[in-house]
Amino acid sequence: MDLVVNDHRDGIELVFSRFPAARDQVAAWYVRGVLVDAGGAHTARALEAWLEGRRLDALLLGHHHEDHSGGAGAIARHGLPVFGSRGTAARMRRPGRVPEYRARLWGQRTPLRVRPPVGLPLEPVALPGHSPDQIGYFDRESGWLYSGDLVLRRHQQIAMPDEDPWAMIDSIRRVLKLAPVALATSHRGLLAEPGTLLREQLDYLEHLAVEIAQLRRSGLNVDAIVRALFGGEQRLPGMRMTWREASGGEFSSRRWVSAFLKPPAPATKAQKDSNLPVPEVSGLFLRRGGDAR
Ligand SMILES: [Zn+2]
Repeated sequence: MDLVVNDHRDGIELVFSRFPAARDQVAAWYVRGVLVDAGGAHTARALEAWLEGRRLDALLLGHHHEDHSGGAGAIARHGLPVFGSRGTAARMRRPGRVPEYRARLWGQRTPLRVRPPVGLPLEPVALPGHSPDQIGYFDRESGWLYSGDLVLRRHQQIAMPDEDPWAMIDSIRRVLKLAPVALATSHRGLLAEPGTLLREQLDYLEHLAVEIAQLRRSGLNVDAIVRALFGGEQRLPGMRMTWREASGGEFSSRRWVSAFLKPPAPATKAQKDSNLPVPEVSGLFLRRGGDAR
């Protein structure tokens, strides 16, 4: 486990915790004395060592997943305040154990007190979708949005429990309105001028929603829709095994299609999780796009 550090600008550094077993890297962004996310538990020690001698006033969590919050316990144990959405606070108070295959990759989480994101140098923005409790942090000084897993997968074909494409659509629209200069992402580094990418992602999700609704109306069940759209369950890169098999059913295309067949959760649900205003948008889209059920 090691860290790769990119010095960006004006006291902003990207600390990538590398997880070779997952062929993945997860960001902790150091922004003028605050840290956004903490990587997984397996790299907590390395991150702690990197932080030694640096000013650190607060840790801000984007959402509760273990690759973002697993390192938080170690970093916060000396009394550092941790901030996050209400949903993140609820999930981190007594975090359940993640399945063994995920723990092997990133490690487990430890219980943590998470405070509401008020009085911070970065502005919290509700970004539910990838996870109901996800929030981003907007830096008015740089125009960067610390966007967590808002744009995790291009042309997403699998989902894990709790992923909500309707909330994703709303969140992307909200970010397009905010018009950040760059997205400081959790797995993809810094994405400058993200408008095109966000519009492309929005377009993909909206088209997929319409296609799934049409296939459903023509009488196909979820598995048949998965075959029609993606040629079956997605395989791990370079492997014969599908995500669904490798994750014991946790990640699957089946789940992704099913998520589109659920009606959008009311904005109040996302609002409750993030404790931030979440204007409802997808209701309008649904009426335009037809009944998705
Ligand atoms: Zn995540």
